[in-house]
Amino acid sequence: MRLAEAHPRREVCGLVVRRGTGEVEAIEIPNAVAAAQAGVAFEMDAGEQLKVVRQLDEEGGVVLALFHSHVDAPAEPSPRDVTDVFSGGDPLWPGAEHLIVAVRRGRSVEVRRYRAVGGALRPIVEGEAN
Ligand SMILES: [Zn+2]
Repeated sequence: MRLAEAHPRREVCGLVVRRGTGEVEAIEIPNAVAAAQAGVAFEMDAGEQLKVVRQLDEEGGVVLALFHSHVDAPAEPSPRDVTDVFSGGDPLWPGAEHLIVAVRRGRSVEVRRYRAVGGALRPIVEGEAN
């Protein structure tokens, strides 16, 4: 993903949305964690995220997926990635997929898809019914 390759030293994050018009778009949300942590963690800027979600609500769009990149690490969820997608045991983004993009030496080498179920991020297997 180009967004992830543009910042190969820090984690990039954002939302994949379907606009009210039906158009699918990846929107980068600023990573709000301190610079020293940005190579290993992310937290979407809450204000920016809210703006996007409000806009979608207005136009009848939906969040299809949340994405973030891993810098020189596999496209596997970190323990923090897992805890961050649940609130009181329930998925924060019901129905949305979680995409992790592995970036190595400035190139995105792999994208893996996960679904938040039962306190875990489970890999989505192509062709499997949800
Ligand atoms: Zn992560």
